Amino acid sequence: MKKISTELTKNYIYILSLVLVIFFIPLYYIAKYQYSYSRQEIYSSLKFLEREFSEEENRVLTPEKLYDIFNEIPEVGDLSIYILHKDKFFTKNNSDIPDFLLTLPSNRKIKLFKNQYWFLHKTLKSGEGKNIEVFLIKDLNTLFSFYEQLFGAFGTALILLICLCIYIMKKFYKSFIPQLEFIQKKADSINLNSLDLKTENMEFYSEFTSILISYENMIKRLQKQSEIQKDFVNNVSHELKTPIFIIKSYSKLIKKYFNSDKELLVESVEALTSEVNNMEKLIEKLLFLSRIDYQNTTKEEVDLTELVEDVIQEITIFNPKQIVNFKSYITPCTINSNWVLCKQVVRNIVDNAVKYGNNNPVNIEIIEDNNHEFVTLTVKDSGVGIKEEELPLIFDKFYRIGGSRSEEGKGHGLGLSIVKSILDVLDGKISVSSIYNQETTFTIKLKK
Ligand code: ADP
Repeated sequence: MKKISTELTKNYIYILSLVLVIFFIPLYYIAKYQYSYSRQEIYSSLKFLEREFSEEENRVLTPEKLYDIFNEIPEVGDLSIYILHKDKFFTKNNSDIPDFLLTLPSNRKIKLFKNQYWFLHKTLKSGEGKNIEVFLIKDLNTLFSFYEQLFGAFGTALILLICLCIYIMKKFYKSFIPQLEFIQKKADSINLNSLDLKTENMEFYSEFTSILISYENMIKRLQKQSEIQKDFVNNVSHELKTPIFIIKSYSKLIKKYFNSDKELLVESVEALTSEVNNMEKLIEKLLFLSRIDYQNTTKEEVDLTELVEDVIQEITIFNPKQIVNFKSYITPCTINSNWVLCKQVVRNIVDNAVKYGNNNPVNIEIIEDNNHEFVTLTVKDSGVGIKEEELPLIFDKFYRIGGSRSEEGKGHGLGLSIVKSILDVLDGKISVSSIYNQETTFTIKLKK
């Protein structure tokens, strides 16, 4: 597992290596260029002398002429020139003749003497045919000591920089470790019932504050979910309590009046059957809600017109007097969806329109949007309607207008929450508009 401290050190080393490359490599090449350029300077001076000695006016080399030539040589820094002519030494600035001069081999190419001098010893001929020994010595000590100092200064600066970086890195590392430890401690101790993320006056980096905020939001979300779950269990228990109470009461009646009151017996059995059916429906709906699979819903080509006609047929079998008008403005109306889930949606909505529609005709329409991306299904009834303040609540689980349970066998308040969950899976949308005591329209938008 990677450690932040190690990673930080690595990054500092990368940066320092980069600094090293950026500064030292060009410096090295500049030094190298100057070093070889100084060699070039010796050759140029030698060429100059050769040219001077070959001139007619210098056929007979007198000491005066030699000094004249010396004066004409272009100035080159740290270059000493010695000439041995007719057993006499001449120097440019009357400088001392070094001891090693005569030991230098003649007509040799340039050599480096102890790495501090370039020297050249060449024998030339004067116009009279006499030997002229020329010694050119370039002192590199100034150049060397300049670069020695430069590299030394850079080296020292680099070492100081490394030390400084290590110090800064350690200081920075130490500054956020307590914050990380705090977050870890809090993460270990928080649970759904205790959400104590107080920072105890500790100053946090904004990144860590964001983590703490995320923790807080996560716990709040989990708390909300847990409350929803608790509510759900309470609602289910409440829904089951009433039929169980009724079943128990009728069972007692049957037990008591089994032989004496046949009429009561029939009435009790009918009530029992109705309650059991009611419970079965509730359990079916609950199971359906828990089984809706958000990930693994397969999609296929669904003819929405055919699907709506199927639903109308099923519903009118149980409600033969109910009039349902259906108009589809696109035929065939194929969408990429799931037949079973889509049918459940349409059935629940049309079912409600019939249940709460005061036996008036129900009108269903299918239209397509201008971009041909969505189809819109509207189901309109002219029934009891929904008050405006109740409109946002009707999609909540177990929400029934008026709150009374299974009033006239009308439902458990789960149908619309099932519709909502299915449409989440199918990428669909639902909206509702209503005029209380007059009409209600549900609009469903489905992707094509
Ligand atoms: P239920 O099974 O009770 O019908 P739903 O979730 O389908 O549950 O509906 C929730 C509530 O919304 C219903 O109890 C009903 O009061 C109201 N509702 C749904 N559809 C309509 C409608 N077409 N007209 C009037 N009220 C409706």
